[in-house]
Parts: sequence; C-alpha cells; structure tokens
Amino acid sequence: MKAALLAQDGSVLFEARRPTGREHGTDAVVAAILDFATDLADEGRSRFGVAPLAAGVAVPGTIDEKNGIAVFSANLGWRELPLRKLLGERLAGPDGGAMPVALGHDVRSGGLAEGRLGAGRGVDRFLFIALGTGIAGAIGIDGRIEAGAHGYGGEIGHVVVRPGGPQCGCGARGCLETLASASAVSRAWAETSGDPDADAASCAAAVDAGDDRALAVWQRAVDALADGIVLAQSLLDPSTVIVGGGLAEAGDTLFTPLRAAVTGRLTFQMPPKVVPAMLKDTAASLGAGLLAWDLLSMEVTA
Ligand SMILES: [Zn+2]
Repeated sequence: MKAALLAQDGSVLFEARRPTGREHGTDAVVAAILDFATDLADEGRSRFGVAPLAAGVAVPGTIDEKNGIAVFSANLGWRELPLRKLLGERLAGPDGGAMPVALGHDVRSGGLAEGRLGAGRGVDRFLFIALGTGIAGAIGIDGRIEAGAHGYGGEIGHVVVRPGGPQCGCGARGCLETLASASAVSRAWAETSGDPDADAASCAAAVDAGDDRALAVWQRAVDALADGIVLAQSLLDPSTVIVGGGLAEAGDTLFTPLRAAVTGRLTFQMPPKVVPAMLKDTAASLGAGLLAWDLLSMEVTA
C-alpha cells in the first residue's frame, strides 16, 4: 500500500508505504487499510497542526465509486465492501462527524494523477496504459477520467487483438493482456529461453544484447500492444498515450519499437505521442488524494 498527504495544489507533503498483509486474509487487509489511514491522519495533525480535510482511497478490482463500495477484488478477496463508509467512520473528527472519503479504482486513479501531475500535464485527451501483471487503462478527458457507464471504461487489456489466441482470465481469448502484459512477456521468455526464472526484465536485457529469440518474443508483445493502441486511437483520438507499469521500465527498448509499430499501422489517424509514465508506483495514491480534493471542491460548488 502506498499513501501520501497531498496539498491542494497536488504537492506531496508526506509519503509512506506498508504491506497489505493479504497473506493474513481479507479482514486483515481491511484492518490494515483503516489503520494506515488513521496513522496518516495523525501524521498530518502532528506535522501541520490540522487534520486532513478529506481522504481518498484507490483499490483494485471492481468499484462502485458512486456508492463507495469495493465490489470485488480477486487479489484482496473482498466482496461488497463498504470501504467509503468504514473509512469515513474511522477517520471521524473530534466532533464525531465522518470525514469525506472518495473511493476510486487504482488504475483510473493512477491515470488521473498522471494526467494532472505527471506525463499528461497540460494534455486534454490522453490514454493511460499500465503494463503489469495484467493490462489496465484509463481514458483522460479535460483533467478527469472517463469511467464509462458501468465503471469499466478504459479496459484496453481486454480488447481482443488475436482472435482465438491465449485464454484470458476474463473468459475471452486473445485479449491484449495475454500477449503484452509484463507477466505475458515473462511467461513467453521463460518458455523460449528454457529458464523458468526468466522474466520481462531479463527479456528486455537480452533484446538489448541482440538475442534474436528475445527479440522475437519482445516484438510479438510490441505488435500486440501497437494493435491495441491503434484501436484506441481510432475510437478516442488521444493526443498522448502514456505507458506505465513494469514493462515500461524497459525504457527505449520498449518505446522505440512501440512508436514505430504504432506509426506503421496508422492510415488516416493522427499519430499520438507515446510517452512513459512519470509517477511510477505512487500514481494511484496521488490520484486518490486528487479525488479527495475533487470531493471537497464539489461540495463547495454544490
Ligand atoms: Zn480478457
């Protein structure tokens, strides 16, 4: 878990991280979240003499942002968890009034932070793609993230780029994340190299060293990713595509062939700038803080 105290202008006043403790079960994770938030609020009080005005929390899985419910997370094990209510009560002020809490999705919150504080600063239309264990995305429009009608907007990892391809956890075949996630590249490189410990980083290193087998594995992922990006370009026409997550750590080894593969596929579409994410693994926590500030500005407006 990553956490931060965030000033209204988005500057980071304090940062901390802790393990989720998920090996101890779902209840332990929820308790750890509530404890972490309480300690962070205390940190704010002791450092700045005032309690935080609002809290934001970003979690993976399916989220009901409107009702503040963490609906489902395969990794953390919860179902229908009323996280906003639990946090608001736990962070209640001395007068007993619950603290306003915003609940967000981790990748969309990360995209929000990239858009306002990171690689998307000053960009009015962007697509954020996180290449990690899976592939997730966020559609940035005018400083906010478009979550869609049901909260599934931006799920570029489940765009089918190879019909009939590898089985995806979502039930379909040939989804982008089965081909171009860090995990997919790790799997493919472990199989090709015969080294069970080989991963995406060692594949990137082998590409840099000129290994033809690694290059073939890498290019397969790059081609799939380019197909996904071109599909998104045709639908959304973003000016910038921000790529983050573990695979983006490969830097130019990824971005140089990826830009070429995207440009080579475009026909009438304008080429997007394809850039690395700037905020790394703290993006979601910063985005959660921005959601909290947005909540307060909405209250003022209302
Ligand atoms: Zn899928």
